[in-house]
Amino acid sequence: GSTESLAPLKASSMTINLTNTPRPVPAPDSAETKAQKTCTDHMITARWTASHGWEAPELKPYGAFSIMPTASVLHYATECFEGLKLYRGYDGALRFFRIGKNCQRMRKSASRIALPDFEPAELEKMILALAAQDGAKWLPKDTRAGGFLYVRPTFIATEEALGVQRPKEALLYVIMACFPDMSKSLADPAPPALKGEADGGSKSQTSGLRLLASSEDSIRAWPGGFGYAKVGANYGPSLVAQGEARARGFDQVLWLFGQESYVTEAGASNFFVVMRSKDSGKLQLITAPLGERIILEGVTRASVIDLANERLAAAPTASESGLEPVEVVERRFTMPELLEAQAEGRLIEAFAAGTAFFIAPVALIHFRGGDMEVPMDGDSGRYARCFKQWLVDIMWGNRSHEWGVVV
Ligand code: PMP
Repeated sequence: GSTESLAPLKASSMTINLTNTPRPVPAPDSAETKAQKTCTDHMITARWTASHGWEAPELKPYGAFSIMPTASVLHYATECFEGLKLYRGYDGALRFFRIGKNCQRMRKSASRIALPDFEPAELEKMILALAAQDGAKWLPKDTRAGGFLYVRPTFIATEEALGVQRPKEALLYVIMACFPDMSKSLADPAPPALKGEADGGSKSQTSGLRLLASSEDSIRAWPGGFGYAKVGANYGPSLVAQGEARARGFDQVLWLFGQESYVTEAGASNFFVVMRSKDSGKLQLITAPLGERIILEGVTRASVIDLANERLAAAPTASESGLEPVEVVERRFTMPELLEAQAEGRLIEAFAAGTAFFIAPVALIHFRGGDMEVPMDGDSGRYARCFKQWLVDIMWGNRSHEWGVVV
């Protein structure tokens, strides 16, 4: 039938079935929390079929579910996901940061892998419902400021059919996982995700990230591909390069593209440089463009750009920070260009930006056998430090802002 006749995803029709066996919340610094395997008491699921459309979402006890060995997701990577954090603010409130953007991106990712459409606002309401149910217990009021739960909306094709075809059955679900307390990292530029708490092995330190530029036999994304979508298929194939980088003492891979060595992203985060333009002499904040769809449109990326335009682009008097104004430029740029700028003293700083890494200053890039040092002002470049503080203030509620969505 036509799409119009199918039932839409509707958060207000959600059924609620609370657990009879609530579990204890692990201590913030416990091994259990560090293992990132513990989810909260509940999850939300919503089933979709091609004949009916969306069934009523269910909020129910967290636990295993079964899918058949022939399920499409297990064979054809028909999976996409989101990653966002629920923060316990300095003011005691539970907050999401620009959650609407994650929900819109989920819809965009789903459409790339033939998963069904939905209204992002309905997914947002479902996530808010789960946060309202479990947030207070699992992120208690006495959580040190900086604490968060990691929310993982996931969408998979569950259809039992080995034929390579558009799935006729799918499951959308939302879970929330315990993560180590982040309060220390608010003052510390190397966030937990890069300190090896995710994998027990990173060598990251407080003096900035060391990135290994990817080689030509390991390309993350390409024009016409799916790098712009948050699909699982982008991540599994990145693990070998990431493992090699870690084994060689680097923190993350800097993903390059093409013969020209275009700089795209760093690990699972976007990448920014601050550079003085050779032509105009102006200071520019440069990041790779979204147009060719090889870059994931990060929520953090968008926020850095918005803040820079709003607070740093105008005359110095307009900026709150005492920093020289920067012009935001989304364009292709290459490693040779960075090397030249560095040699001429025009490279000011570089940083990675993403939900997991937050704002992480970069100290070094290893490219074609050579180390390129990136200037740092102590433990962080000055622009990275400034963006980080502005974002901390919004995420943890020091400053009320429309990007902070209180649960
Ligand atoms: N690039 C990639 C490849 C990512 O996986 C992520 C994390 N979602 C990002 C960038 C940063 O996006 P965000 O700021 O929305 O976390």
